[in-house]
Parts: sequence; structure tokens; C-alpha cells
Amino acid sequence: MIIRNSIIPVSHFTAINLFGLIFVRRGHSFSDVDLNHERIHTAQMLELLVLGFYLWYLVEWLVLLVRHRNVLRAYRLIRFEREAYDHQADLGYLRRRRLWAWARQAEKSRISSADEMKIIRRRKKFRPQTK
Ligand SMILES: [Zn+2]
Repeated sequence: MIIRNSIIPVSHFTAINLFGLIFVRRGHSFSDVDLNHERIHTAQMLELLVLGFYLWYLVEWLVLLVRHRNVLRAYRLIRFEREAYDHQADLGYLRRRRLWAWARQAEKSRISSADEMKIIRRRKKFRPQTK
């Protein structure tokens, strides 16, 4: 179920999936790819009985935030987000998806994530001189 509104999620995000209800920020376009991303999260939630998903999501984000000191980078590296971003453009993915795919996905992405390398390069490039 999609709920369009002006409050949730915070301004620069388009959508958030809360307990299987998809909140879409009014004025933002919401494509089939975006919907697929949120449905992948619903599948992940069901595998962890919903509350387990949010607990794991929060703890992993905090660990990544401490490690990388960058809010968006930490968000993007959460294993649930890696799976959702890596497969959101494949609209048939959920029909073929294996149980616990997010767990396997995290290891696969960790080794070969082009995004991660791009972010690391970008951060180094713009790091201010300290001398
Ligand atoms: Zn997501």
C-alpha cells in the first residue's frame, strides 16, 4: 500500500517502508523501480519478523556510521540497502529471489562494490588539506 504525504520520509528521501506500508513524499516521482526497491525491503522484513529487520537495520547502520563517519554512506552500505539497490531495476527479481538473499548479497557486494570504491575516491579527492 502506497501512502503519499508531505511529512514522511525526511525531505531528500523519496520513500520509506514502515511495516510494509510505503510512504512516498508528495511532489517526488515514484517509479516502478522505486516500488520494487521498497517491495524488496518488505520481503526482507518478513524474513526477520519485521522487528528483527528494524533492529538489525539500526545496529548495522550505527556500526557503519562509526566505521565510515558518513551518514549517507553508512545507509547505502547496510546489507538490506545493498540488496535493494543492486536489484531494484530488475522488476522480476522478487519472483526469483532466494530466501535470506540479503545475507548472501552483503558478502558479494563487499568484495565487488563499485559504488563503495567511487565513494571512497570522492571522499579522498575532496578531503581538505590539513597543513
Ligand atoms: Zn532502501
